[in-house]
Amino acid sequence: MSSEILYDTIIIGAGPAGLSAGLYAARGNLKTLIIEKGIVGGQLQVTHEIENYPGMDHMTGPQISDAMEEQTRRFDCDIVTNDPVQSIDLESQPKVVKTEKNEFKAKTIIIASGSEHNQLGVTGEQENWGKGVSYCAVCDGAFFKDREVVVVGGGSSACEEGNFLTKFAKKVTLVHRRDQLRAERILQERFKANPKTDIKWDSVVTKINGGVLGVESVTIKNLKTGEEYDYPTEGVFIYVGLSPNIGFLNGKIDLDESGKIKSNIKMETNLPGVYVAGDVRDTVLKQAVTAASDGSLAATMAIGYVEALEDKNLASV
Ligand SMILES: Cc1cc2nc3c(=O)[nH]c(=O)nc-3n(C[C@H](O)[C@H](O)[C@H](O)COP(=O)(O)OP(=O)(O)OC[C@H]3O[C@@H](n4cnc5c(N)ncnc54)[C@H](O)[C@@H]3O)c2cc1C
Repeated sequence: MSSEILYDTIIIGAGPAGLSAGLYAARGNLKTLIIEKGIVGGQLQVTHEIENYPGMDHMTGPQISDAMEEQTRRFDCDIVTNDPVQSIDLESQPKVVKTEKNEFKAKTIIIASGSEHNQLGVTGEQENWGKGVSYCAVCDGAFFKDREVVVVGGGSSACEEGNFLTKFAKKVTLVHRRDQLRAERILQERFKANPKTDIKWDSVVTKINGGVLGVESVTIKNLKTGEEYDYPTEGVFIYVGLSPNIGFLNGKIDLDESGKIKSNIKMETNLPGVYVAGDVRDTVLKQAVTAASDGSLAATMAIGYVEALEDKNLASV
């Protein structure tokens, strides 16, 4: 692929939203490019099992991502990986996308840049990242065979990945700041029923304590009693929410109060020819299936926009 090509659409991000948008756009005859800052798959790459994507029962996140990529490539969708988008001129026509290594032009843009895990923001977190602190059980879980680990968070990811960790760890202790979990009920019940798990309610991790070899303990504070104590552990898996990836937008697009891109039911943003799909938009359900659905809709709108541009150009000849 070349920066000389004028693409009909450029999709930013190759998670389920971007891959689905790529499939629909390329199959709809648009000259399509997906730009991905890392590897294809987005959050699916860090999810051990997806059991709620219709028709794909008990497949791992990477398996679903591989199938999506293969299907999208079949329709000649170009995909660039390991090349982060750094800025975009969304108001020009064509729109200009600057990446770390290149510059691309397109008639329409679909933003599908998803979201990234939040940090806990405590002392010892950054110092011990990769030495016991992790945000990805799928990537790092196997290093904790027969060890004790702590999971921080109370949502679906914390319960789901905490359960996964019991395949390796001898004990998984969940630390949650409230007295009930936010996770989907089925995931909560599975976690609580697992004999290798425990929950520290009304508690937060205030510090991660490490030595030369990595994490040795976490300091836990009980928010009800005020008691603070060190709890021995060799691994800390952090699942405390996600923030939208919008750094490259340079403030040119309307966002909601939590920083997600505002969209209507057609995946349109406030800027003509600029669409959004998946976790990065103001969606109420952040799942692979809704991201894929958004992607298909955004691509369909982009197809209509490109056709209208072509009709206008023909009329002016
Ligand atoms: C641990 C965990 C478990 C989950 N379990 C489930 C589940 O069981 N079922 C389910 O349906 N969903 C699950 N989800 C949620 C699901 O994975 C997400 O909702 C879905 O991946 C969102 O898709 P997306 O394409 O919008 O974003 P993402 O998957 O986040 O993909 C966005 C892509 O954009 C790329 N990107 C970001 N910034 C740039 C840039 N500047 N330039 C180029 N590329 C960029 C990212 O690298 C990424 O590849 C889980 C998520 C996690 C973290």
